[in-house]
Amino acid sequence: MTLPPCPQCQSTYTYEDGALLVCPECGHEWSAQAAEAAPEVEAARVVRDANGNVLADGDSVTLIKDLKVRGSSLVIKVGTKVRGIRLVEGDHDIDCRIDGVGAMQLKSEFVRKA
Ligand SMILES: [Zn+2]
Repeated sequence: MTLPPCPQCQSTYTYEDGALLVCPECGHEWSAQAAEAAPEVEAARVVRDANGNVLADGDSVTLIKDLKVRGSSLVIKVGTKVRGIRLVEGDHDIDCRIDGVGAMQLKSEFVRKA
């Protein structure tokens, strides 16, 4: 079994001490488990628009569908441009503010990156 080199000084004289790996040259100690898990960077959640383009905080989008505003008679028309979106968790994954309507949450499948 080969142990990973020291992440600080690249020494290959690493040894195991319980759950830790220790470098005898610079004295650095780190968790062997963390070292193993490191390549598995948790995949960031990706929100895509109706065309499959990746959306990011601060993007501007255009509605591709008339959307009724819940609890009111307002309809946000297709083609309405929304600036400065913020991605959030949930079924409606875009948080934004629309002129004349106020704070809204949209579904990414009903928008297109502007
Ligand atoms: Zn070291």
